Amino acid sequence: MNDPLMPAAYAVLNTDAVKRNVSVVRRHAPGAKIMAVIKANGYGHGLQRIAEVLADVDAFAVARGDEGIRLRKAGFEQPATVLEGFRNRDELDLFLSYGLDTVVHSFPQLDILESCPETGRLGVWLKVDTGMNRLGFRPADFSHAHQRLRECRVVKGPIRFMTHLANADDKTDVKTLRQIALFNETLAGCPGERSIANSAGILGWKDALTDWVRPGVMLYGISPFPSQTGSQIGLQPVMGLYSQLIAVKPAYPGETVGYSGTWRCPEPTRLGVIAIGYGDGYPRYARNGTPVLVNGRRVPLIGRVSMDMITVDLASQPDAKPGDPVTLWNDELPVEEIAQCADTIPYTLVCGITQRVQIIER
Ligand code: PLP
Repeated sequence: MNDPLMPAAYAVLNTDAVKRNVSVVRRHAPGAKIMAVIKANGYGHGLQRIAEVLADVDAFAVARGDEGIRLRKAGFEQPATVLEGFRNRDELDLFLSYGLDTVVHSFPQLDILESCPETGRLGVWLKVDTGMNRLGFRPADFSHAHQRLRECRVVKGPIRFMTHLANADDKTDVKTLRQIALFNETLAGCPGERSIANSAGILGWKDALTDWVRPGVMLYGISPFPSQTGSQIGLQPVMGLYSQLIAVKPAYPGETVGYSGTWRCPEPTRLGVIAIGYGDGYPRYARNGTPVLVNGRRVPLIGRVSMDMITVDLASQPDAKPGDPVTLWNDELPVEEIAQCADTIPYTLVCGITQRVQIIER
C-alpha cells in the first residue's frame, strides 16, 4: 500500500469467500431458503457491499428498521425482515412504505397491528420464545397471539414462524434439542413456513433445519463454535485486517511498555509500534502475547492496546523496519484466535471495526 492517502489501518474483503460460504450453507441445509443475516453493517463488513454479493439469497435479515430502510434506499428490492420488529405505529408505517417484513414478538406489537386499517401490506414472522428468553411469545401465549395476528387486516400472505437458539454453539448441550422440540410442539398442526437455525444450528444441529435458515456469522467465514476456526469447518474468512509498523525502537531490561506498564522488558529487545488500536476496532482487552503478523511472521503483542497503536516485541525480527506490513487477522491468523486472546467472541471483533478503517476489496 504505497498510496499516502491510504489510511494506515485497512480491512480487505474477499467477496468470493462470501459466495463460497453461501454454498456451505446450501450443502448443510439442502433445499432450505436462506435468509442472510446482514445486520450491524453486515457484521462490520459493509451492509451495501455484502448485500450486493448476496444478491441470490432468498431474503435478508437486519436487526432494526433503519438498517432495512438503508437497504431499500440503496436499491435492494429483495424481501428483508426486521428481526427486532417495529417499535411503534410510526415505525410500522415506515415498514409499510419501504416494504419491510417484520418479526412480531409481543402483545404491544399486536395492539398496534390491530389498530392499523391498511389491508394485506405487511409480511410477518411470528416469533416463539423457546428458551432464549429474549424476544418472542411464550409457548403458552402462542395460540392466542397467533389467533390475534391472523385477524389483523394489515398482515399479508401466510404467517411464518421462527424461534432462536440460545446454546447451539455447544454441540453437546441438550437444551438445543429441547428448544427445537418445544417449537415443533407449540406449532403442531399450524400450517406455515418455519425457521430455527442460525449458523451454529445449520452446522451442528440437523433437527434445526426447516423451511428457512438464518445464517449470519458463517457467511463471513467465521466459526460459531468456540473451539474451531472457520477454516477448520470449511468456511473461508472474508475480512482481513491490516496495518503497518510506524516505529521501531530499542527497549532495555526493567522498562515497561504502554499505559499502566503491563509489560516489563526482561532483556534487551526491539519494540515495534503499529498503527492500529481500539479506535479502529482492535480489541482493547487483547492480552500480552496475542499474535500479530509482521512481515507474515508471528510476533507477540506487548503492553496495553491504546486508541491508535499497539506494540509488539520484535526480538525474532531484527530486520523489521517502519513501513513493514502487519496483519491483525486474516486467513493465516484466524480472527477466532484473536478473539480468544481478548476473552471475547469473533463476532465482536468484526462488528467493532470502526469508520476509520477503510474497507477495500481484493
Ligand atoms: N437469527 C437471529 C434472530 C439472530 O438474532 C441472529 C444473530 O444474532 C442470527 C439469526 C444469525 O446468527 P449467527 O450470526 O450466529 O448465524
